[in-house]
Amino acid sequence: MQEELRVGIGYDSHPLVSGRKLILGGVDIPYDKGLSGWSDADVAIHAMIDALCGAANLGDIGTLFPPQEPEYKDISSLVLLSKTSELFKAKGFKVVNIDVTIIAQSPKLAPFTPEMRKRIGRALGVDSTRVTIKATTSNSLGFIGRGEGMAAQAVALIRAEEKAKS
Ligand SMILES: [Zn+2]
Repeated sequence: MQEELRVGIGYDSHPLVSGRKLILGGVDIPYDKGLSGWSDADVAIHAMIDALCGAANLGDIGTLFPPQEPEYKDISSLVLLSKTSELFKAKGFKVVNIDVTIIAQSPKLAPFTPEMRKRIGRALGVDSTRVTIKATTSNSLGFIGRGEGMAAQAVALIRAEEKAKS
């Protein structure tokens, strides 16, 4: 059996607005604003999905789950992550590890990252030790520093097991 390692990168950003829940890494975070978007606008999971898509040659999040599709309106991005996971498992890929950085001026996210890792691990069917989430600020620079939005970056390493031809 031949084994191949593949890597993918992902980036996402969404505007912060009043009247929306703030959901990051699948966790509802108490805050006076939330991210706006067609789904729940979870930047961390969106960056992660794009990293997995890149590694597994599955296109990108926009082609897999087109915005404006009624079935994806306000959908939990954990559901989109599970669907992505099914697609790459069907191609014979397994997650080695995923690393995510969330860039937000506030609130403090560190208290929530263990729960994010648990929920993401569950959605992907992998141990949470394979998922790491870090949070940083932009040191008050730019749209993130002004509290107008948040961004996330992700890198995913996956393993492809080429099945022996029968
Ligand atoms: Zn997004």
